[in-house]
Amino acid sequence: MTNTTIDIPGYQGRATRLEQACIFRVIDVEGCQIADMFVVSADDNSEVFSPPLTRQTGFRLTPRPGDLLYSNRRRPMLTFLDDTSPGPHDMAFAPCDPGFYIDLGADSSHPNCRDNFYQAISKLDIHIEPPPDPFNLFQNTVPKADGDFVVGQTLSKAGDYVEFRTEMDVIIVITACSVDLPIDGIEPIGGLSTPLRIQVD
Ligand SMILES: [Zn+2]
Repeated sequence: MTNTTIDIPGYQGRATRLEQACIFRVIDVEGCQIADMFVVSADDNSEVFSPPLTRQTGFRLTPRPGDLLYSNRRRPMLTFLDDTSPGPHDMAFAPCDPGFYIDLGADSSHPNCRDNFYQAISKLDIHIEPPPDPFNLFQNTVPKADGDFVVGQTLSKAGDYVEFRTEMDVIIVITACSVDLPIDGIEPIGGLSTPLRIQVD
């Protein structure tokens, strides 16, 4: 799939299949939006992106341009090519789910990245339970020296993007995170989930 643009409305997700050696960007259209990115091997859906193996091989909490993103079988899935955002990104948090919103005082029907992952990938006739762990693009949850996370508002501006190259045939799922409620008095995405875009060269 080349020269393709996929628009992702706020509070929703989209999945696409990409062949090896594709270059794609995940664009924060309006700014201040978290993009959960899930990566699944197209040939074997049990092979998925592994944050722990990626931390171990890169020897850092979060990949940077030039780093490889590894699968749970220690095979490169993506190369992180470019980043026009100020960062940071997060590779520690699970996708938000109904329980996450119940803890924040909402009800279980609140939109969430877990259900948006299921819905998006089901359009490709795939079901993966539980969802793989994501790379949370633009998510500003940097740990302090004592290990506690500090939640900050997302710093990306309109049009900021991160760019990757596929190192195998993959399915990419991007969800526009729905975390529109305050956490410790901070609104991570400014109180409203806004659109993202996947652009494939
Ligand atoms: Zn989310």
